[in-house]
Amino acid sequence: MSLRTGRDHRLDDVMSSERIRVRGLVQGVGFRPTVWRIANDLGLHGDVRNDGDGVLIRVSGASASLDEFCARLRAEGPPRGRIDVLERSRDAVPAADVGFEIVASDAGEVHTGVVADAATCAACHAEIIDPDDRRYRYPFTNCTHCGPRLSIVRGIPYDRANTSMAVFPMCPACAAEYADPADRRFHAQPNACPVCGPRVWLEDGRGRAIDHTGEDAIAAASRLLAEGRILAVKGIGGFHLACDAGDERAVAELRARKRRYRKPFALMARDLDVVRRYCTVDTAGAQLLTGSAAPVVLLPADGAEQAAGEVAPGQTTLGFMLPYSPVHQLLLADWERPLVMTSGNLSEEPQCIDNHDAGQRLHDLADAWLLHDREIVNRVDDSVVRIMHARPRLLRRARGYAPAPIPLPTGFADAPPVLALGGELKNTICLLKDGHAILSQHLGDLEDARTADEFERTVGLYLELFQHRPQALAVDLHPDYRSTRYGEALAASDGLPLLGVQHHFAHIASVLADNGRPLDTDPVLGVALDGLGYGTDGTIWGGEFLLADYRGFGRLAHLKPTPLPGGTRAILEPWRNTYAHLVTHVGWQAFVDGHGDLELADWLQQQPLGVLAGMLERGLNAPPSSSCGRLFDAVAAALDVSREVVSYEGQAAIELEALAVGIDTADMAYAFGIDRSGELPQLDPAPMWRALLADLRAATDRRLIAARFHAGLADAVAGLAATLAAEQGVDSVALSGGVMQNKTLFEGLCVRLEGAGLEVLTQQQVPANDGGLSLGQAVVAAAQQLEGAT
Ligand SMILES: [Zn+2]
Ligand SMILES: [Zn+2]
Repeated sequence: MSLRTGRDHRLDDVMSSERIRVRGLVQGVGFRPTVWRIANDLGLHGDVRNDGDGVLIRVSGASASLDEFCARLRAEGPPRGRIDVLERSRDAVPAADVGFEIVASDAGEVHTGVVADAATCAACHAEIIDPDDRRYRYPFTNCTHCGPRLSIVRGIPYDRANTSMAVFPMCPACAAEYADPADRRFHAQPNACPVCGPRVWLEDGRGRAIDHTGEDAIAAASRLLAEGRILAVKGIGGFHLACDAGDERAVAELRARKRRYRKPFALMARDLDVVRRYCTVDTAGAQLLTGSAAPVVLLPADGAEQAAGEVAPGQTTLGFMLPYSPVHQLLLADWERPLVMTSGNLSEEPQCIDNHDAGQRLHDLADAWLLHDREIVNRVDDSVVRIMHARPRLLRRARGYAPAPIPLPTGFADAPPVLALGGELKNTICLLKDGHAILSQHLGDLEDARTADEFERTVGLYLELFQHRPQALAVDLHPDYRSTRYGEALAASDGLPLLGVQHHFAHIASVLADNGRPLDTDPVLGVALDGLGYGTDGTIWGGEFLLADYRGFGRLAHLKPTPLPGGTRAILEPWRNTYAHLVTHVGWQAFVDGHGDLELADWLQQQPLGVLAGMLERGLNAPPSSSCGRLFDAVAAALDVSREVVSYEGQAAIELEALAVGIDTADMAYAFGIDRSGELPQLDPAPMWRALLADLRAATDRRLIAARFHAGLADAVAGLAATLAAEQGVDSVALSGGVMQNKTLFEGLCVRLEGAGLEVLTQQQVPANDGGLSLGQAVVAAAQQLEGAT
């Protein structure tokens, strides 16, 4: 390919020639056409090409114009691109004086990688609502700046033949756009129009079309929603189940059919104005909602209007997103209220991506199916962001973010290719390559056989997409995680070194990488407050104070262990933790003697306590754990929040936080103790329990009790962290673990630690929950490999 312009440069200027090297997200995002356009605007000549390092520009022209050229490259780069480095050097050989050309990639050269799916851009949206445009109401409109990518790719190189668009040959009009560097659709692989592209239809789930004479399928789908029906809607990275979020009956029906009893449903609203009727949206929130990643943003539900109560029971937030594909934009065009847009699945299964599968698995869940014939190759869930301590924090990193590479800190440039396989829940995988970390989209809980299959397929896909040949593998220490077992098998078959990385160490290492801490960083005081993770001593950890850098860690202190009666049943039934905490930290007889008249005592005594007491006494099926997540469960259940059984991980902690939101605790926080009788200092909840029980006796408002618990835990954790940091001579504290998704506790910790003069490192780009583990595992393995190499 050779694309030229005949424009002459201005001979009266001082001429110079430069080689400009651009690194970052510059391939497959429409960067070369941008270079071409700006060069032509400025009358420069030369060429631009992709190579193994990014983009190389050779350009000649007036010196002043070259400065302007570079400034405009930075300012006018394509929306999904990102310039990390732009290096200019003089070129002794001027570019041929024949205009400016885009040089085709060398034959045989393989371009690796693929970018994230992006929400429909403003230009494409304008086309689908313009009755005179050839793409009017066309639900698969996209361009170089927007549309599907990761969700449709099967392999490399990233071109149409390797995507699910391969079965739709472009019509002459689309092909002309595709070939024209001045067109927004130059080299847009999924380019399509009503003549040549995918189509959408409405059916009853058994392959029978639903009649919608006089309107198109999407208009008919919108009408069904307005009538209170539940629809399965095929989108970009999977299926949603949709209904009118203002229709109490429809939302309750959806909840019952989905068997998702408490977990909040995400909402989709036509525009920001609709969102603002339900929630406060600040500038940062508005930027997130309208950005090209278009995640679900958790917002305070304090607007003038309220969604149906069953949308988010027990919550003070709503999760909103804006329509991110033309299908969604057209579906919501007439809606003044939000729609529920929850993942298309039963309970905790992965969401459907395939038409046939959706017809079967969603058979009893949906009333109608809005389908299309563009295959979803890779499931890519909606991302979730919450603004905490004034910054956006990714809670789930998937659509719109993955697989964008995250630059690794100084010192990791020579890291060997590492493959890290993540944890068991909220699994992601991570590749290290060429100084970057590539995290997969959120894959989910590997306990589900379908997700475990997807996990294996995704490992294969990423190794191919990024031409990655691992030289080392990293896994969690837990011997029974499916990801660990997969890593062990891969290490054995390929003869690769395998490193088991302790769960909470990986959490803290991911904070270091997220914050660009160099390989040779001074150690930090890591505070990992989490559910459950396998410890180096074979017990279950989850409330940890670690001294850590990339190369290793030491355990300095932890929450005082409490047994988990019934093992995993203690995760599902929060009251078991209340019982275990009372037995361990108060003493059962002391509790009954002092508080036997409490409703809590009465309730607990109706449970099979004899069995549990036996477990605790004999230490059978009651492993001790320093988990902070289970402490939250224990306190929540004591307050009759999610007491009996939870329907999703973290439910009790989330609903306990919701109870505490907006309650001023002044100086009434519950105290924790520090037990120094053991090998390590232990944060002791005993004083907290005594004060809490006294408050229950005094019939204190449960909201105040919840707030005092949060404030007390923040005081205690920050206090111990500050003491340990001083003892160790470190001035930085890194916060991670699933409990850091609790805004009240997280912000309380940040404020207290900053107030103590400490630098607080927190997570933004990758989740603080187990979704960030693979990054931490990868950088720890890389540090070890680099160490071994010197
Ligand atoms: Zn577009
Ligand atoms: Zn076409």
